[in-house]
Amino acid sequence: MIWNPNKECMSRDEMRALQGKRLQKLVTYVYHNVPFYRNKMQAMDVSPEDIKSIDDIVKLPFTTKQDLRDNYPYGLQAAPASEIVRVHASSGTTGNPTIVGYTRKDIAVWSEVMARCLTAFGVTREDTFSVAYGYGLFTGGLGAHYGVENLGATVIPTSTGNTEKHIRLIRDLNISGIACTPSYALYLAETLDKMGLRKEDIGLRIGAFGAEPWTENMRKEIEERLGLKGYNIYGLSEIMGPGVSYECSEQNGSHINEDHFYPEIINPETLEQLPHGEQGELVFTTLTKEGMPLLRYRTKDLCTLTNEVCACGRTSVRMGRIMGRSDDMLIIRGINVFPSQVESVILEMPEFEPQYMLVVDRVNNLDTLQVQVEVRKDFFSDDIGRMLNMKKALADKLKSVLSISADVKLMEPNSIERSQGKSKHVIDKRMLK
Ligand code: ADP
Ligand code: ZN
Repeated sequence: MIWNPNKECMSRDEMRALQGKRLQKLVTYVYHNVPFYRNKMQAMDVSPEDIKSIDDIVKLPFTTKQDLRDNYPYGLQAAPASEIVRVHASSGTTGNPTIVGYTRKDIAVWSEVMARCLTAFGVTREDTFSVAYGYGLFTGGLGAHYGVENLGATVIPTSTGNTEKHIRLIRDLNISGIACTPSYALYLAETLDKMGLRKEDIGLRIGAFGAEPWTENMRKEIEERLGLKGYNIYGLSEIMGPGVSYECSEQNGSHINEDHFYPEIINPETLEQLPHGEQGELVFTTLTKEGMPLLRYRTKDLCTLTNEVCACGRTSVRMGRIMGRSDDMLIIRGINVFPSQVESVILEMPEFEPQYMLVVDRVNNLDTLQVQVEVRKDFFSDDIGRMLNMKKALADKLKSVLSISADVKLMEPNSIERSQGKSKHVIDKRMLK
């Protein structure tokens, strides 16, 4: 099923024409309403009249998270305060959080793109759907909530916390779909075990998982443990929230809601636009946003784009899985390491739970990497020989994938802290020194 075939299945030429038209309008709008953009464009000697088609986007300035912080709280807002009906903020671990204001139309667009995602995942009006992203300033909860209502399914706003009660609700209310982080999905599976229930006792069919990077192996693990089909959903608060892109039944990359969010991939060093297929930093321009529209926002997320034909019938550009954020990329002894690489290796070995932590340090001027990983109950034993073999097997695999050696630390079952929202997989002690 396709929610809005007119928009999701447009010909490429029609889409590009629409994007060009919307970009022109957007640039005129921010030029007149956001001094930050007017100043930047004047400094680059570009005026709204220079934007004639979507290809002219390369003439426009980039926007960074730092720009949002420097203009905290409302400096980049284009609509007058009287038009803003809602405000969200991104978590912002360092410095000021980023504040995003939405107009009534922005909320309507968000609900529309969310309905497209949920329909692609197979959710219908007959479904009862639990939103287990946090409700609050974080965009996950309310963003998904409005999408479910717009589609016409029944929304159960469970949010996070009280997982046992949540599981009882899933069983008693016949909840068939759930939106949450992949880490919370795992936690749900563990809690199900703890309660002595089986996946057959709850009838979950569809999972909309996102808000943090996750791997194919993690998908298999969650699908197996919860008995559902897991789909990837991507988004970020600066651009809208969840619903920027979504997987279809082909699960071969995520379709971007390109009529609203124009994607580019750039080389993060030179800032040059890269052709489809090449990996780089994902950049979005909000083509229709009114509250806080952004030109060429640098997400710091690393991935690839493709517009090869998709068998589902949608024609939009697709993005590959996020390798990680450029902020998450660890440089250890000069080698780039992503937590997702470690996750992939751990999940290929039946001995381990998908619970891990990378601890990076610097000892005598040399970077060290320790990988802490939980051993599954059935594999945990007092037999030192067996445990040492397990440790060596993982260290060897990690070395071949990462190209650097890691010290593996086997942990007891349930010793690594579980996350209900976005999980944390790295402790970099070098930054603390
Ligand atoms: P922040 O985490 O910066 O406070 P958000 O809550 O808006 O802000 O989170 C957006 C970020 O979450 C994205 O830029 C991306 O790094 C990550 N993210 C969201 N969805 C996914 C996904 N499906 N896969 C990988 N990463 C994701
Ligand atoms: Zn598709």
